Amino acid sequence: MEEETPLTTHPPHVLIFPLPLQGPVNCMLKLAELLCLHDLHVTFLNTEHIHQRLLRYSNVESYFKRYPNFNFGTIPDGLSDNNSRTMDQISNLINSMEEVTKPLLMEMVTSGSLGKNSNKPLSCIVADGIFCFAVDIAREIKVPLLFFDTISPCGLWTYLCVPKLIETGELPFSGDSLDEPIKNVPGMEGILRRRDLPSFCRTKDINIPLIKLVLKEDEHLPLSQGLILNTFDDLENPIISQLQTISLNVYAIGPLHSHLKSKLSSSKPPTSSNIFEEDKSCMAWLDMQPPNSVVYVSIGSLAVMTKKQLIEIWYGLVNSGSRFLWVQRLGSITEPEDELNEVPLDLFEATRERGLVVSWAPQELVLGHEAIGGFFTHSGWNSTLESLVAGVPMICWPYVVDQQVNSRYVEEVWKLGLDMKDTCDRKIVERMIREVMVTRRYEFKQMLNRMAKLAQDSVSDGGSSYHNLNRLIKDIKMMRFRL
Ligand code: UDP
Repeated sequence: MEEETPLTTHPPHVLIFPLPLQGPVNCMLKLAELLCLHDLHVTFLNTEHIHQRLLRYSNVESYFKRYPNFNFGTIPDGLSDNNSRTMDQISNLINSMEEVTKPLLMEMVTSGSLGKNSNKPLSCIVADGIFCFAVDIAREIKVPLLFFDTISPCGLWTYLCVPKLIETGELPFSGDSLDEPIKNVPGMEGILRRRDLPSFCRTKDINIPLIKLVLKEDEHLPLSQGLILNTFDDLENPIISQLQTISLNVYAIGPLHSHLKSKLSSSKPPTSSNIFEEDKSCMAWLDMQPPNSVVYVSIGSLAVMTKKQLIEIWYGLVNSGSRFLWVQRLGSITEPEDELNEVPLDLFEATRERGLVVSWAPQELVLGHEAIGGFFTHSGWNSTLESLVAGVPMICWPYVVDQQVNSRYVEEVWKLGLDMKDTCDRKIVERMIREVMVTRRYEFKQMLNRMAKLAQDSVSDGGSSYHNLNRLIKDIKMMRFRL
């Protein structure tokens, strides 16, 4: 970005607007804190629904009082109070935000509390990449827009290649085999099979709402003045190069959670930004377990499993002989709770002896605990980075969107664990846990130690993410609106 002098003498004021889900909110709050530490002013805009949950289950409001240059704002998402806002509602959520939230935001940034006559007019908008409407908002007030895609860059790159996959006839799939290699995702030849493409690619009808949303995002991403990514050069250099072909400025500033930690003096994780009630009792339980003996099981904030899958995973865990800490989020089992009575008694008995089930855990702390030896994960991008930084090998059981790509990269490219996608059988679960915890542990740990060190180096003084964050901050200070 060209050198320019700052437009005003006021500190820049950045509006950060995350997709109202746990992962993006976690990630963008970390970016917000990093910007505050560099003396930028930040307004963090939450949907009312997410903000209520944050107020209820986290200490973010009191925590951020230490930054006088930080404010929360709220805005409706347009969905009714009783909408579950679960994964199956994502397209409805985005469409509703386009219809209801966009005009309200437009008013807020033109004549309202963030308008140019307010005492702190906006100098930059950082919005989730799926918020295509942010382009119109930024144009209206002539303020630079940066998109922040909090999914994995390798996943994002496959989203951007969907038009090419359709054009070349690779999408929709012809025939039922999911093992056909994918040829039209540049840089991923020989890596991806059909089953490793984002979950929505498995449709026979490319006119489904999720694909429409992705195609729209693909058109809008290049219209921003930059793209922020939660990754680091040594992990995804080839992908970052591909993304540079669609965006003028790419800022790879991750892993954000360790970047923030390295800038704060305390060794504790900064703050929880939970939208679920955290059960900290698992930390005392972990203290009583031997080093590297526990498998941590969590499928994040949106994924669900059927009761049959629950039982298969449960048997796999028990039969592997490992101890386990399992997050069973309320609502994450898709059959009625009362049917859980049918779980065989031996599973409950084994769990009493060497397992613990909680409804939400302090994940960063859990993964950093010496008792943890493996992570059975749904391969959400935040979870993947948190596991990588903590040096914990993964058993990947992806659910939707970028997770299918992430799990492939974990096994095939980065060699940090195993990809169990598209199966859920107790024998396979047992075998994979034994491999990660015992037989192939050394191999995975060696790769993880190397990658965790590279991640740490990237956010330390002189590292690539450290440098990219400084560049981002400098650019925010100097940036002018560009059509
Ligand atoms: N998380 C947590 N406690 C849990 C499960 C998850 O704090 O019991 C956090 C986790 O640390 C991560 C986020 O929730 O930061 C989940 O994001 P991810 O991208 O992994 O998956 P998503 O929930 O978006 O599918």
